[in-house]
Amino acid sequence: MDRSAGIPGYGYRSLCPVVFVILFILTVLAGLFDRSEGARFLVLLSLVLLVHWWVLGIFWIRAAPFGGVLCRVSGETNRMALTFDDGPHPDYTGAVLDVLARYGARATFFVSGRMAEGCPDIIERIIAEGHEIANHSMHHRHLISLRPFREQLWEMEACQRLLTERFGVIPRWYRPPMGYTTRGTFRAARRLGLLVAGWDVKGWDTFFSDPRRIVRHVCRRMRPGSIVLLHDGTSLKKPPDGDMVKISAKFHRNATIAALDVILNVCAERGLTSVTLSELVYEKDTG
Ligand SMILES: [Zn+2]
Repeated sequence: MDRSAGIPGYGYRSLCPVVFVILFILTVLAGLFDRSEGARFLVLLSLVLLVHWWVLGIFWIRAAPFGGVLCRVSGETNRMALTFDDGPHPDYTGAVLDVLARYGARATFFVSGRMAEGCPDIIERIIAEGHEIANHSMHHRHLISLRPFREQLWEMEACQRLLTERFGVIPRWYRPPMGYTTRGTFRAARRLGLLVAGWDVKGWDTFFSDPRRIVRHVCRRMRPGSIVLLHDGTSLKKPPDGDMVKISAKFHRNATIAALDVILNVCAERGLTSVTLSELVYEKDTG
């Protein structure tokens, strides 16, 4: 069964591979039958476009030429989805949950299996407070999407198994580390019955330490149906033990927590409610 069927906004986005393939075939044919300078230029242009499309498809999740990705839900009037990647983190996720609770907001946490293993109490709190848990791979290897299918499948499956067996949740969504995708990413996700989730609004909170810049980025772009990307953890490969608290200031999430408070305030002013990704997709907007 195709689990993505009927999801508004799920699917190929900005670029259509068919158009590029047709363009390529046409220009190759033109090159074969017409050996002029112009025809050669067209063949070259077509090749450049194909490579460009391929590279863009890997590194820009919204292009999604290799499979369907949910980056925004259409037809919404007053709901959006806040999502948090890379946690749970012993220092920050609790504070994120406190802010969400203060505003009665729900969110989706794309957790890495390794972090979840080290912070089971936080995972249980996330579930108990009505948020959604989703799959962000076992070890959050940055370039895992560029690795062969089997390795990608293993990373997804290990995280899925841990969350299911240890915490009793069956995640619906997978978000690849760094948002990179290849054909193997979609094949592996399909094999596990997972849907791939991207975002249409990025907080850039892994770059900015000033909460005002995060707020500006999010609030300018956020609208009904938006999927907002923020981070409650770090993607460092350290185990979630005592060492984790010694991370450098560059990776701390205090700016995200401060920004979240303002973002939820702005949401309230605009009449926007943050719900989980599955609520946004599968439950009707009751206005
Ligand atoms: Zn991540």
